[in-house]
Amino acid sequence: MNPHESALLEDLNPPQREAVLHGDGPLLVLSGAGSGKTRVITRRVANLVKVRRVFPWRILAVTFTNKAAREMRERLVQLLGAQANDLVVSTFHSSAAMILRREAEHVGLTRSFVIYDDGDQLNVVKRAMREAGIEQSMQPREILHRIDQEKNAARLPEHMVVEPGDERGMLVRRVYAAYQERLRAANAVDFGDLLLLLVTLFRTRPDVLENYRRRFHHVLVDEFQDTNPVQYELLKLLAPPPSANLVVVGDDDQSIYRWRGADVDNILNFPQQYPGARVVKLEQNYRSDQNILDAANDVIRRNPRRMDKKLWSDRPRGADLTLLLNRDERAEAQEVARQILALQREGLIRFSSMAVFYRVNAQSRVLEEALRLARVPYTLVSGRSFYDRAEVRDAAAYLRLMVNPRSDADLLRIINTPARGIGDTTVERVTDHANSRGVSLYEALSQPESIPDLNTTAVKRLKGFRNLVASLATFALDAKDAASAVEQMLLETKLVDSLQAEGSDESQTRAENLREFLGAAQEFDLNRAAAAVAAAKNAAEVPPEVDAAPLTADVPPLQAFLEQISLVGEADAEVGEGRVALMTLHAAKGLEFDAVFLPGMEEGVFPHARAVKAEAMQHDDEAPRDTDPTEEMAEERRLCYVGFTRARKRLFVSLAQCRSLFGELRYNPPSRFLQDVEPKRFGISEQDLTTRARPPSTAAVAPRKRTWDEDDGPRIDRSYSQASDDMDGVGGDVRGMRVRHEQFGLGRIIAADGSGPNAKVTVEFGGGVGLKRVIARFLMPG
Ligand code: ATP
Ligand code: MG
Repeated sequence: MNPHESALLEDLNPPQREAVLHGDGPLLVLSGAGSGKTRVITRRVANLVKVRRVFPWRILAVTFTNKAAREMRERLVQLLGAQANDLVVSTFHSSAAMILRREAEHVGLTRSFVIYDDGDQLNVVKRAMREAGIEQSMQPREILHRIDQEKNAARLPEHMVVEPGDERGMLVRRVYAAYQERLRAANAVDFGDLLLLLVTLFRTRPDVLENYRRRFHHVLVDEFQDTNPVQYELLKLLAPPPSANLVVVGDDDQSIYRWRGADVDNILNFPQQYPGARVVKLEQNYRSDQNILDAANDVIRRNPRRMDKKLWSDRPRGADLTLLLNRDERAEAQEVARQILALQREGLIRFSSMAVFYRVNAQSRVLEEALRLARVPYTLVSGRSFYDRAEVRDAAAYLRLMVNPRSDADLLRIINTPARGIGDTTVERVTDHANSRGVSLYEALSQPESIPDLNTTAVKRLKGFRNLVASLATFALDAKDAASAVEQMLLETKLVDSLQAEGSDESQTRAENLREFLGAAQEFDLNRAAAAVAAAKNAAEVPPEVDAAPLTADVPPLQAFLEQISLVGEADAEVGEGRVALMTLHAAKGLEFDAVFLPGMEEGVFPHARAVKAEAMQHDDEAPRDTDPTEEMAEERRLCYVGFTRARKRLFVSLAQCRSLFGELRYNPPSRFLQDVEPKRFGISEQDLTTRARPPSTAAVAPRKRTWDEDDGPRIDRSYSQASDDMDGVGGDVRGMRVRHEQFGLGRIIAADGSGPNAKVTVEFGGGVGLKRVIARFLMPG
């Protein structure tokens, strides 16, 4: 074994090593959470380059988020040095965007095409519907959703399957076709197109496909369980069955993107698609303490149709899970903040090793407030939020228009921003004129005099606007880097000046955001320059006849910058040094933290209300049948498994008796996932169950004011939960026991903290009373 090889293999177990050393041909690595799948991909890439002497530009590694790609690249730089710069490590979408830009002419685009986001897409759908006179017939959002689904399934309008008589289906197909036409006319694509157009190109132009097959000898995919059909199709084209060097790693139990068209069958059927594929199973989890892993297994075990996998850990049992019971979502947030501070004070876990995951974004506001008040530093991981701000979108719209003046959506966005006296009626007339001529708005503006019904002032203003864009476009053409183009744009458009002139606090913040945007461009330029230096160094090694150029070569800097910001995803934000990370459960996949908090463990929050409702209605013949209710609940369960298995040492699950969410007050029962976790994971023993479980029978008449709503005094913002140390009292040992309360009637004990007659017990009462927290001595056996 050469020294390179041994260093790369040293800290791998035998099956991991087998996967890293696997020679040529397809390979599936299938295993549970935290078993080193991502590590295997990284090491395998390093081994290919270092030991097997594969040129780095022959390797394409696909990850799920830009953030994951960045982390993998950093690891590879450590293992390989500068050579790592020639690897293509990216998401499906950004590698597709890079290839598509090189081949733009083949798909009816130019190289300066822009990428439309969700908001742009919706505008295009609305305009297509208005044009066809059908804006009343269906919700634009629903149509857009259906279009996205068709794209995920790799179907163009002409491939859509519509049953005869399915009027809505026909309508969707019609709008879809018009929508595609509009995008092409604007020299724009949406996210789905990046993959769909590339697949279409590869299917119809074998010569083009051949170039990429020749280039990429090794394709590796992380989180394979979440690929959708169009992504899988792309893989099959680039690395065709039966024998290409396609390595996929994944875990069927962590498939959580079904709503985006991901198909867990891809992983289940991989061995059929690639007959002869080697299958390696990793069974040792290196991440989580035993107790956490056991709890995760308690939950996932109940899912039907799982692949056969084992997962064990030789890590210590570790701490008990902590259950936090709270009055409401505010108390919950404060309790989470308090626990975070306590952990940090103990000195064992740093803020940066802690995370809070929630099911829906709406939960984050209250959590943020509480963390701010408690002075806990945190980062909200919601990558798009910065680029979704109105002023940042305005700036981006100008830039996109500069590289691609045909982009009507962008032009409409900023034609009167900052205000320059171009009113809605004028815009309407320009639009009508452009439509009747079949030209873009920008083109229509080249001769505003010829647009009917415009007065001279309007004509003058339109001319001024057009000249501004034209002069910026010329500047962009020669700009040596992205930042200088951004700077020039901010200067000439007066976007910053006009905000500053407003003089409010809010407008100041918005002006600062624009400066931050400029900062992002500067950072982009620096990274690009560094990559170019590294690439030039390696270029000498490449045989001249081979296409080894970085996929982004020749893309002008401003365009490359725009592409990068268009592709920023929800999970991509960098968590600041020394900060707690807040994110959705979906964004948490692949990550790990010492301590994890899961607030909102309630029916209707997690599992999501939609899944609960679908399940409740599954025997109702009237119920809509567009989703499979059992599958929906199974996906929630997988999401819970993902959440639990992010934790290394501490797992806090939390719920609130009542919660305002989406402007509605709810009393949710505890999550079924909590009920599935065995009591002993919370440190409640069998013995507790028999000896200490006696609910006090000395019940007195319980006055109304002894319910948990009031017994804590007037400071309503104090949470009831007291961390895990209290949980060994009567504790959850009485869980499930039927009890009776003088006032609330019959119920079932959900949880308790404290011990003896004064323990605080959470009971789910029947008869519409719901969850109540009462003092144990007011209960009688039911
Ligand atoms: P997930 O399913 O969550 O994506 P994964 O299977 O990709 O997890 P990794 O993230 O690669 O797992 O590894 C989990 C943790 O275990 C990481 O901290 C990794 O460094 C560590 N690890 C993996 N393999 C080993 C090993 N052989 N020895 C020691 N630590 C390991
Ligand atoms: Mg992983």
